[in-house]
Amino acid sequence: MEELIRDSYDVVIGLEIHVQLKTRSKIFSADPVSFGAPPNTQISEITLGYPGTLPRLNRDVLSLGLRMAMACHADITPVQRFDRKNYFYPDLPKGYQLTQDRSPLCRGGYLAIPTRNGLLNVALEKIHMEEDAGKSIHQEGSSDTQVDFNRAGVPLLEIVTRPVIHSEADAAAVVTEVRKLVRFLGISDGNMEEGSLRCDANVSIKPKGTTALGKKVEIKNLNSARNLSHAIAYDVSRQIELAEAGHPVPSETRGFDAATGKTYPQRTKEELNDYRYFPDPDLTPINVSSDWLEEIRRSLPVLPDVWFERMVKEHGLATSDALVLTETAEGINYFNELCLLGVRYKAAANWLMGPVKAMLHERGWSMEDFPLQPAKLGELIQLVEAERVNFSAAAQRLLPVMVDDPLESAEELANRLGIVQVQDDGALELIVDEVIKEFPLKVEAFKNGKSGIVTMFMGEVMKRSRGKADPRKANEMITNKLSKK
Ligand code: ADP
Ligand code: MG
Repeated sequence: MEELIRDSYDVVIGLEIHVQLKTRSKIFSADPVSFGAPPNTQISEITLGYPGTLPRLNRDVLSLGLRMAMACHADITPVQRFDRKNYFYPDLPKGYQLTQDRSPLCRGGYLAIPTRNGLLNVALEKIHMEEDAGKSIHQEGSSDTQVDFNRAGVPLLEIVTRPVIHSEADAAAVVTEVRKLVRFLGISDGNMEEGSLRCDANVSIKPKGTTALGKKVEIKNLNSARNLSHAIAYDVSRQIELAEAGHPVPSETRGFDAATGKTYPQRTKEELNDYRYFPDPDLTPINVSSDWLEEIRRSLPVLPDVWFERMVKEHGLATSDALVLTETAEGINYFNELCLLGVRYKAAANWLMGPVKAMLHERGWSMEDFPLQPAKLGELIQLVEAERVNFSAAAQRLLPVMVDDPLESAEELANRLGIVQVQDDGALELIVDEVIKEFPLKVEAFKNGKSGIVTMFMGEVMKRSRGKADPRKANEMITNKLSKK
């Protein structure tokens, strides 16, 4: 019954995602940006907005923002301004926040999100830059409020999606993708626990198949993909219950309590502030030159969605494999470097998905902890590709030894382990001939149709070559010789 009712509604979600940019100093001053510093140590007169101080835009903020805009295929605004968003709050020292209201960094564009069903494109409304506010701290048992201004003036990007997301799972995937993308672009550490990525979810429902959007509820400040997903699921049920009981869903701002898993009302739209936006007269307009754009465009890495698409479409990997390979920036970079070294895509994918993944799992490592440089793993893979070491010896014996001795050459270690295959056809032939000579009865059996006997010859040849014979070649040679007997 519950399911049936839910199925008669469409869920509509738009996200506003705040990303803290990884700059050394704040957006309008030289005050440092660092997480976890003692309260009010990362501030100056500018951060505090003393009369007579003037803001100056940190060029790095714009350049990191432009990287994101390009990664989202958005239209970059050629002449941009910052606007004052006026409101009173204890953690807002100037009495206004500098943000881009009229001329955002960019408009349109989309996020391409790899899923098991291929890429899901989520359309964006816009991305704008703004400064963060300080933090109010309420000590338990005290009625006082303390304020820490370290965060005031820290640069943020706000990424606003269009109302085109239709489930809590997709919403969580969007946030996870943004986190991956900003790390990949090197513009933010995307750390949700430390608040460098936060999200507001706008959620509404409408009768299935109708076009007019319902009134939205905005759930503020969700600090993990899990909380985002839980908050949406809870609120959708709440909205459907209201609708089913014949009550309109009020448009309001709500909070989410992770302990209870419930959203709660914070304020209704009617109580909303009038922010009296106007262009900040202390900052000059920003002209984004085409030279600069070109320079940034050239510095962009190949993006995860492009990798995903290439892996699936051009190299025939399963979407599930491509999903795993493109999961982290480190994983993609590693894969990329292997391929740049000339390792075949398929071989690179197989090694990362197979032996390397198993080793990470076994040792409790993430890709960042993996001690082998791509060049070294590349050496190992190329030994296998050249059929000088067989796959299982390389995976089970050579890889662990290399990981413990990450600077030594793969070839040297393979030699020490004695697993380099006999390349010399003459040497192999001697062994094969010797074995065939020693087992006349088995040769007879082969002639009588027992072709499985080749396995026994193989075992003997591998033993006598001390595992160095190339199994494929040995097999071929044995079969050939036996057939001619
Ligand atoms: P506001 O003016 O209230 O801030 P916006 O139109 O700027 O609203 O949209 C803010 C966010 O809300 C965007 O992410 C947008 O996609 C989303 N949104 C707008 N309308 C709806 C709706 N009816 N249901 C769900 N999300 C919505
Ligand atoms: Mg808005």
